[in-house]
Amino acid sequence: MSELTERIEALEKIAETLEWQQPQRNQLMKKIEESTVQFIDQLDHLPAFNDIPDGGSELRKNPLREEAYSLDEVMDLYHSQIVEPGLNPASGGHLGYIPGGGVFASTAGDFLADMSNKYAGVYFASPGAVKLENYLLEWMAEMVGYPNTMLGNLASGGSIANLSAVVTARDAKGIKSADVPNAVIYCSEQMHHCLNKAFRISGLSESIIRYIPLDDHFRMRSDALKQQLDEDLQAGLTPFLIIGSAGTTDTGSIDPLDELAVIAEQHDLWFHVDAAYGGFFMLVETMRDKFKGIERSDSVVMDPHKGLFVPYGTGALLVRDGKKLMESHYYLANYMQDTLSNAEEASPADLSPELTKHFRGLRLWVPLMTNGLAPFRACLEEKYLLAQYFHEKVSSSELFEAGPEPELSVVTYRLNHPEAEIRDQLNEKLTEMIRKDGRVFISSTRIKGEVWLRCAILSFRTRKWTIDTLLEVLHTFGAELLQQSLTETDR
Ligand SMILES: *Cc1c(COP(=O)(O)O)cnc(C)c1O
Repeated sequence: MSELTERIEALEKIAETLEWQQPQRNQLMKKIEESTVQFIDQLDHLPAFNDIPDGGSELRKNPLREEAYSLDEVMDLYHSQIVEPGLNPASGGHLGYIPGGGVFASTAGDFLADMSNKYAGVYFASPGAVKLENYLLEWMAEMVGYPNTMLGNLASGGSIANLSAVVTARDAKGIKSADVPNAVIYCSEQMHHCLNKAFRISGLSESIIRYIPLDDHFRMRSDALKQQLDEDLQAGLTPFLIIGSAGTTDTGSIDPLDELAVIAEQHDLWFHVDAAYGGFFMLVETMRDKFKGIERSDSVVMDPHKGLFVPYGTGALLVRDGKKLMESHYYLANYMQDTLSNAEEASPADLSPELTKHFRGLRLWVPLMTNGLAPFRACLEEKYLLAQYFHEKVSSSELFEAGPEPELSVVTYRLNHPEAEIRDQLNEKLTEMIRKDGRVFISSTRIKGEVWLRCAILSFRTRKWTIDTLLEVLHTFGAELLQQSLTETDR
């Protein structure tokens, strides 16, 4: 045997241990099964937030090394260092930011996608995987009311999907670098900050960003938009993009999409709707009207990892005139020439910055197929009604002041106190106390400079009893804080 083949054989013995045999695979599956049972069965009793100082600090103390760790060692580290500390997004008690959740059937989708490792970037490589993702996007486009000229992309999340939308709008409206300083984008202060990131990343940070005033429900005022647009046109500027939100993150408000669409059409502007949070509420028949006008937009983002309850890692972009999405994202590389023969189905690689990507379609398709649509619709309507329930309760409480009636499933409210400065401090303290307590998790925000608390209901596991727990915690700690502040003022 030559030296070369000897070395190859020696390496083969070590390398082939990467192909796990059945007993080893079974052992892993058993561990996963145990971990799943333990996690899901305890979920209702686990804290929604676990304030462990320096969480995850053992990870670096178990560095990567030449020899394997045992499965038990790895699973123990996973549980104690990763699962336990911090926020528990799988908990129904997660009522902060925009909650996640993660329906179980999605794990099968990811598992299967990982095992087969189908290449979902290019139609030629996996016609089934690409057709599946395109089909899911068409299903969403039908919900929006787009014609079949649409194309879309399953991105990693709403931020990346919004970035692709901004880039597409920029190119479709012919904004080149020399045009950037005169180009105008219209949006509201309540727009998600990922779009500000997108402006910077896409070379639009030197464009003019107009924050249009809001009405008392935090919706963009279309009369103010019209006025600003007229002024800008008269000044010789180049308006090109209007961004509306269908469900702002802060308050769940929906901009007047129909009115924005009319203005965009009149002036030939790109109309983008960020429905990352709220989009899937369109599945609820009685809520459909809230989104009127979305069908007239040029692009929409909606996040399955929010409103479809799948685990983090999937946001969808839909573009009415699919060609525009492709013109901003395709590339013909020499080494890809074999892949071009089949043009009947668009490939994700031509519709996003990604080439090789996770096969995200399965984590959506498996839960939608194995549960049916009915439970998703019911769950969304339930969240909407729970928000109304919560709003009713805080509105009638003496301790609290409620914001506007929720349009979707976010309610703003705050502990009442006549003095603004003290009120802000008390509400910040209250958020802190609730976090330390951990039964539920809430987040706060600032609206017009003042602190407000948010109750954001979108985990599929949030039930009426969860909201009752929040109400109980709020009243207990709220009364305590007000009492304290009174005795302090007396002194
Ligand atoms: C969550 C959210 C985003 C960002 O999406 P990610 O999936 O977190 O990247 C954008 N817009 C709105 C309205 C959101 O609620």
